[in-house]
Amino acid sequence: MTFEEQLEEYQRIIGDVSFPTVKKWKEAHPAGKVVGMFPVYTPYELAHAAGMLPVGLYGAGGMVEIDHADSRIQSFVCSIARSTLELGLRELTKDFDVLWFTSICDVARNLSGVWETNFPKQAVRYIHYPQNMGSPAARTHYRAELRELVTMLEDAGGRKITDDAIRKSIALYNEQRRLCAEVYEIKRNAPWILSTYEAYVLIRVGTLMPVEDHIPILRSAIASIGERKRPPRDFVRVILEGSFCEQPPLELLKVLEESGCAIADDDLLLHTRWFTGEVPEDGDPLGALASAYIDTTRYSSVRHYGPRSRKAEFLKKIREQNVDGVIFAAPKFCEPALLDYVLFKDELEKAGIAYLGFEYEEKMGVFESIRTQAETFVESVMFFS
Ligand code: SF4
Repeated sequence: MTFEEQLEEYQRIIGDVSFPTVKKWKEAHPAGKVVGMFPVYTPYELAHAAGMLPVGLYGAGGMVEIDHADSRIQSFVCSIARSTLELGLRELTKDFDVLWFTSICDVARNLSGVWETNFPKQAVRYIHYPQNMGSPAARTHYRAELRELVTMLEDAGGRKITDDAIRKSIALYNEQRRLCAEVYEIKRNAPWILSTYEAYVLIRVGTLMPVEDHIPILRSAIASIGERKRPPRDFVRVILEGSFCEQPPLELLKVLEESGCAIADDDLLLHTRWFTGEVPEDGDPLGALASAYIDTTRYSSVRHYGPRSRKAEFLKKIREQNVDGVIFAAPKFCEPALLDYVLFKDELEKAGIAYLGFEYEEKMGVFESIRTQAETFVESVMFFS
């Protein structure tokens, strides 16, 4: 199979809301447990160390009608919350044994409560991340939180999770993060060789399979990409911001790239690039994960920075990427993304950095208005800056 054919196959897997890779894993591991991970970041290492399959829960991507979820959660919340619940109510997540939600927003908190009530056979946990990063208690608090997650998995799986098993899992996820960063480096430096759309498919499929299966896929893809012969093209280099939780329709990424934007960096599937360095593979593994979260996390709208200014962190990220502009693509009704848009657009105006902002939702089917906006944005950056 060629690399392009493989990408088509991964796209088919991503779009299949019956979770075919999870079913296959369950058949091979009849007693195995599956842990659903709601974005943005969750410690996949712990589920892996328990011998379980961690799986990214990214909603239905517009593939199901919302027939049942609106009777249990507000209709004026983001699509990912409604469609994830819809998947549950249609019994498409019945293979999941444990679900983790995190303290990213009130909607995620609400969803975790609704899930617990509606699916009493599944174990649900709402993970509280530290907020006051300047306090020494942040590390202690988060390590204790991780310890509780380990206990939860031990109860679900009926066996102890050793420190050694967690260290081995950390090493594997370090390798996966390294390879994902390599994929990003390629698309940043040579977007005509690898588009963001392709990089996304390649990385997203890894949220649906064991990390041991995804690592060779990434290695082989990087080798295939290196053999591609495509002439360089002129692009406007941008950062895509705001898509850290609910993922934009794949077609939207294509439209932005076809309009002449090279997405040098983005906040899609952020958990695969969450840390700026490697998590130590020796010593206390929970302490290592806690310290990595506090000291080496990439910029994100849903992470707290303690005494450090969010605006300064955001501008630092923009400058480091040496881009021509910023595209704010925020899910409809997503408070964290939309509040950041309001906060940061003034900063960009002061700094003379071009930007474009729009909202999307999973069910979006027409992209012509966004195509026109993106083409106008590209022209204005190319010819007037
Ligand atoms: S898309 Fe936004 S509002 Fe919805 S769950 Fe995610 S962070 Fe919260």
